[in-house]
Order: sequence, then structure tokens, then C-alpha cells
Amino acid sequence: MKIDPELCIACEACLPYCPMAAISMKDDVAVIDDDECVECNVCLKSKVCPVDAFAFEMPPYPRSVRHVFSDPRTEHKETKIAGRGTEEMKTNEVTGRFKRGWVGMGCEFGRPGIGTRFRDVDKVAQVLAKHGVEFESKNPVTFLMENRKTGKLKPEVLNEKVLSAIIECLYPIEKLEEIMKALKEVAKEVDTVFSVEVINRADPDGSYPLRKKLDQMGIPYYINGKQNVGLGRPKADV
Ligand code: SF4
Ligand code: SF4
Repeated sequence: MKIDPELCIACEACLPYCPMAAISMKDDVAVIDDDECVECNVCLKSKVCPVDAFAFEMPPYPRSVRHVFSDPRTEHKETKIAGRGTEEMKTNEVTGRFKRGWVGMGCEFGRPGIGTRFRDVDKVAQVLAKHGVEFESKNPVTFLMENRKTGKLKPEVLNEKVLSAIIECLYPIEKLEEIMKALKEVAKEVDTVFSVEVINRADPDGSYPLRKKLDQMGIPYYINGKQNVGLGRPKADV
């Protein structure tokens, strides 16, 4: 994102709109800290500037990843999905990706105000890979990996900063305990906030195998159920 210094009248109206606090005043002109700016376009889209001083041009790769991860309206060219994760993370699970006996996991990094660098995503992805998880092939973070077996991200994106990013993966439920322990350990080296979502299919009697295991491990959780209201036809066996 750029601000035209010739147009800026130093009204300061744009400052509170930036979710990364990347805009400040210098010598009576608004300036953007390029290292902190995640190219989310909020300043431009808000139309807050009275003189249209903001201008956006898609930056070249690797900086372009900032925009595609931080502006939820932008489609990832590899996945054809806008936003951070796959469609199923955002809507209902109707395609049967999550089988009985398996755990679907999402690790969500960053939030407005703090963001995340991909070097933190890389640390966690490598730990997950060591435990044999299967990374979701349609997730945009998976496309940034140079090796899906090791979870290692491409070196040129490690310093790129985005509002948030999600790793999505699958593994057998027997691995839950070792993976949770490994995540607790690596969290000490991660320089942003991250939350973990675990997904499982209910058993025929309506119970959730994950709840029992999380209770046994003493891990607190907040239940977020999603209901298919019939707009999609489930492909999964019930
Ligand atoms: S593009 Fe986003 S991060 Fe960059 S200056 Fe504008 S609001 Fe801030
Ligand atoms: S809103 Fe526009 S004119 Fe006002 S400080 Fe920001 S860039 Fe300058």
C-alpha cells in the first residue's frame, strides 16, 4: 500500500483504521511502515481518506502473499478459494473429509493488531510434520510448503507478515496426545497468538471421542458445532 505524500493533508483520519497500526505521521505526512503493513487494503476500502491518497498495486511475489492472506475477498490462485482456509473450515463439513477415528486440526495464527510472520507458521508446520500429519492439499499454507513431508515453508516467504493464516491437517485420534504436547512445547517459540481447533465426527450414539480424550488430558475447550441445514447434500456416511 502506498500513500501519495503530495495528496496527504495530514488529517490523521486513516490512523485508527489500520489493523496493524502501520500508519503514522512523519513531518506532517501519513507514512506506512512497509515491514508491518500486511497489504490488507482496509485503509483504501474504508474510503476514509478525504483526498484519495491511498493507492494499491499487487506487490510482486513473495510480498504478494501478504495481500492474498490478509484481504478475505482475494482468491488464492492455487486453491480458487478466498480467505485463509478451505471451504469446509468456514461452512459445514458435508464431504466426509473427517472420518471416524481421525482428527481434523486447524492451527490459526495471528489476529488483527498482531498478525503473524510465516516463520512462526513454519515452526509449527515442521513439528506437525514430524508427527506424521497429513496436510490438507487445498489449504493455501500447504501451497507455501517446499516439502509437504517436512512441513518446511519456502524460505522466501518466512519473513512475510499477514493478518492470519491457518494450517489444516488430519491424523489418527491415537496421535492426539503426543501432538497436543508437541504444540504446547513449540508454542514457547512462537512470536504471535495461535489457537488450535480439533474436529471429529460424532459416534452413532451421539458421543464425541475427542471430548473424552481432551478431558483426560486436562485441556480446556470450547465447543463450536456446525449444523447442516440441508443446503448441501452430505456425501459422508452418517
Ligand atoms: S494495507 Fe492494511 S496494513 Fe497496510 S497500511 Fe493499509 S490498513 Fe494498514
Ligand atoms: S486520511 Fe488521507 S489525508 Fe488524512 S492523513 Fe491519512 S492519507 Fe493523509
